[in-house]
Amino acid sequence: VYCVVEDVTDRVKLENERTEIQERLLTLINASPDIICFKDGKGRWLLANKADVEIFSLTDVNYFGKTDSELSQYTDEIYKEAFLTCEKTDEKAWEKKGISINEEIIPLKTGENRIYEVYKIPIFNNDGSKNGLVVLGRDITERKKHEKDLIIAKEEAEKANRLKSEFLANMSHEIRTPMNAIIGFSSILNNRITNPDLKKYTQRIESSSNNLLRLIEDILDISKIEAGHIEILKHASDIRELTEDIKKIFALKSAEKVIDFTVEIDENVPHFLFIDDFRIRQVLTNLVDNAVKFTETGGVAVSLSSKNLRVNKTDLILKIKDTGIGISTNEKQLIFENFRQSENRMTGKYGGTGLGLAISKHLTELMNGKITVKSELGIGSEFTVIFKDVIISEKITDKNIKNKNFEFKTKQLNILVAEDNLINRQLISALLENENFKITEAVNGKEVFELLEKELPDIILMDIQMPVLDGYEATKIIKKDDRYKNIPVIALTAHAIKDIVAKYHTIFDDYLTKPVSKDDILKSISNFISEK
Ligand code: ADP
Repeated sequence: VYCVVEDVTDRVKLENERTEIQERLLTLINASPDIICFKDGKGRWLLANKADVEIFSLTDVNYFGKTDSELSQYTDEIYKEAFLTCEKTDEKAWEKKGISINEEIIPLKTGENRIYEVYKIPIFNNDGSKNGLVVLGRDITERKKHEKDLIIAKEEAEKANRLKSEFLANMSHEIRTPMNAIIGFSSILNNRITNPDLKKYTQRIESSSNNLLRLIEDILDISKIEAGHIEILKHASDIRELTEDIKKIFALKSAEKVIDFTVEIDENVPHFLFIDDFRIRQVLTNLVDNAVKFTETGGVAVSLSSKNLRVNKTDLILKIKDTGIGISTNEKQLIFENFRQSENRMTGKYGGTGLGLAISKHLTELMNGKITVKSELGIGSEFTVIFKDVIISEKITDKNIKNKNFEFKTKQLNILVAEDNLINRQLISALLENENFKITEAVNGKEVFELLEKELPDIILMDIQMPVLDGYEATKIIKKDDRYKNIPVIALTAHAIKDIVAKYHTIFDDYLTKPVSKDDILKSISNFISEK
């Protein structure tokens, strides 16, 4: 009898430890709020944690060795769909041979659905055959709900913002119509009244209404910029002429203040560039308006120059320098924010909205430009606007060649005014009263054609928004008709939004934004008329 005695103390200890760790792992797996399940290579359940068993109401079912479709027989009908989906996504994980992540819906007995993010990890044997599948599922119902709420909140905020912009655009349009009459008629009164006391009052009405209009336009612009509704529309425009024009606008104001006003344009600046002339003019006017406003002695110098001039591109530099009150160092950035005005300006003295620079900065950046300022308190300021790589155009666009085929002043001009608003019609007639014009009026597009049948006018002033047949549709018809197409049509729009005008610019020969002044109308008409 041989007796082999082996000391197994260590082995037994080790096995006991293994059992202990397995038990701890099981406790851990069961404590997890996430679903954990092990399946074999044939999709049979080997181990499921408490969360998994509970969610499928499998507490009293021996799940061991059963597949998903088998298990669906032992439990409530409501889980059937979930089990079948699970089998399908298992299949995908096997095919993918790597972790697959799906969203799966598990219904509750309460009628509620829970959404799970399910990770499936396939494990293969060395010979490539299926070994088993680990399934982990996390309840993401709340997260999904928050995501959905966020999307809804974002959409609602965007909608509210859109509505705000639309409301502002409509309001501005509605306000402009009566403003048109106030500004127009007060300028007429101003010209007729000789009594100096009364003239003072009408001048105040005129300047206040102009300020009000400016305020409306600024608020509209900033809200449109913030809502992302500003579109930059580039076309070949004469930048030199645009800069020269500034002189005309500010000559009177600077003369009244007895300050110098100079405009210098470098010889090498090309004439025609692909720019949004309307927006550049707006930026330039804002900056020059401030420079003149804040300067009491000395003057304002505007300069336009070209840098890095190449065959088809150039950098463009606009400088507006003044010898005014200046801006302190710590306020140099703040003044570009909405409604910001510097401390040193005496309240009330200068007026303004505090929006001009914010608008100018946004617009410049929308045009890929940059605006900077150098300034010293009491010495003056210099604003610089730089646009890089502006495309040079050799071609003059259609808009720059006006068909000058009429005689002006020597011959009476026949003007057809199409405008549905009685006050505006009266205003235009009153504005043009002393000119050598014969004015015919139409209240909508349909009437325009009735009048055209009788007599061809030299010019048509066409309101865009009119009942029956609007100005846009009427002009489209005019421009297609050989009998009428050579008659210049000048659009009148109450929209502050010049981009609306840009939309129409291929149809109309020119356009004027209300409130229109006599000068605006005459200037526009003169584009189509040769004086003999
Ligand atoms: P505002 O309508 O008040 O002119 P802006 O946005 O155009 O609004 O300008 C904001 C502020 O920046 C002005 O109120 C003024 O305090 C300051 N500012 C702008 N331009 C000048 C300048 N050329 N000289 C001195 N201060 C200026």
